[in-house]
Amino acid sequence: MMSTGIVAGSYIIAAVLFILSLGGLSHPKTARKGNLYGVLGMVIAIIATVFGHNIVNYILLAALMAAGGAIGLFLARRVQMTEMPELVAILHSFVGLAAVLIGFATYLDHGEKLLGTARLILEIEIYIGVLIGAVTFTGSVIAFAKLKGLLGGKPLLLPARHWGNLALGFLCIWLGIEFVSADNGTIYLIVMTAIAFIFGIHMVMAIGGADMPVVVSMLNSYSGWAAAATGFMLSNDLLIVIGALVGSSGAILSYIMCRAMNRNFISVIAGGFGSSSGTVSAKYEGEVIPIQATGCSELLDDAQNIVIAPGYGMAVAQAQNTVSELTNVLRLKGKNVRFAIHPVAGRMPGHMNVLLAEARVSYDIVFEMDEINSELEDVDVVLVVGANDIVNPSALDEPDSPIAGMPVLEVWKASTVVVLKRGMASGYAGVDNPLFFNENTMMLFGDAKQSLDSVLSGLS
Ligand code: NDP
Repeated sequence: MMSTGIVAGSYIIAAVLFILSLGGLSHPKTARKGNLYGVLGMVIAIIATVFGHNIVNYILLAALMAAGGAIGLFLARRVQMTEMPELVAILHSFVGLAAVLIGFATYLDHGEKLLGTARLILEIEIYIGVLIGAVTFTGSVIAFAKLKGLLGGKPLLLPARHWGNLALGFLCIWLGIEFVSADNGTIYLIVMTAIAFIFGIHMVMAIGGADMPVVVSMLNSYSGWAAAATGFMLSNDLLIVIGALVGSSGAILSYIMCRAMNRNFISVIAGGFGSSSGTVSAKYEGEVIPIQATGCSELLDDAQNIVIAPGYGMAVAQAQNTVSELTNVLRLKGKNVRFAIHPVAGRMPGHMNVLLAEARVSYDIVFEMDEINSELEDVDVVLVVGANDIVNPSALDEPDSPIAGMPVLEVWKASTVVVLKRGMASGYAGVDNPLFFNENTMMLFGDAKQSLDSVLSGLS
């Protein structure tokens, strides 16, 4: 077994590596290195934990680690890029469930052996850990179901839901006081866990489709705090540090997402934001103007300034490599080609950036929404590749729309817009899009990859 000094030293090294990892992941150029730091930190953390503590049964531990590792490896190899958000959501639920189980185990094992302040502190740690863990668990399971399409995107708006939430909050505080005062508080812990499970379900069920990105990053943050609480219960310093890193970075990400979507953080958590009136967005009447791939090639040939706005459909079609190839061909022809990235395009933060990096699109032609929106009126052609909600003008024009107030890519300002999608289906938020009926919009129907392949052959 390692000495406590070596374990503490290893934990410090691992913590530093995790901080370096987060730093690296903040930019595409350093992301690979950031990943390596993270892997190295985790290897050190696991070795130090396995050999540095009094493990009672190494065989059981090895068997469980092998089983967990094998499942993780299988899932990571099998998962499609489009399924990543669901995978992340379900992984958050595991962290939450672990915090609940460890909380109960710690209470049943140690709760009655300690006395005085030490016992009070442990019980508070357990209570808070189980509370956050339980909310994270059921919240993440519902988020998983919503992202996978097993549950609809529409918010569940129960009458007087805010009062209900407030009442549940007060009930949890009262149960907590009873829990720490009682000789055996198991029953209070169980009742609070049940309430927290219900609260987690209700919290995410009440979130409307377009607000899901904020919820996913918020659950990410909760899972960090649940891990930190587990660290307190197990007296594991590294778990506390990692939990705090994940918790605070998730909170910052949630804040950034809220700002990007012009949402108030508290309103999103309270649920049903932007759809309290229950209004369904207007159906748009009119003709759409279809275009064939050859027509699109000609448009691009004549254009000088081109912007590509990718969305979730690019991920579904796995069209990123064709998009990259098209960009190279157009740039070789001397055209100015840029990418416009909406902060919530796709189904996870940074989704489009990851796909474009994978397809080796140069970072210096990839622009954030805020950088490029004001320049779109000088653009000849915008190619909207499988995007919908992020280019929906009703977010700006219709106060009753469920996505009202969300900043969008103002592609309609360009001379011509070509939208690549399979049909007239709505996007994740379930809102119709008047962009498709504009006079300067043309619809190139079909799978984005196949359409772009044809456009590309028309150019070459
Ligand atoms: P949307 O979901 O709004 O639209 C995607 C469009 O792609 C669909 O309308 C679909 O139309 C089209 N599409 C699907 N498959 C293909 C294909 N093979 N070829 C061509 N087109 C295809 O995506 P956006 O990126 O515009 O917006 C993201 C939405 O997801 C926002 O509402 C956001 O809030 C939400 N969200 C984002 C998360 C994040 O973190 N980024 C997380 C959770 C939700 P059709 O079926 O007609 O082809």
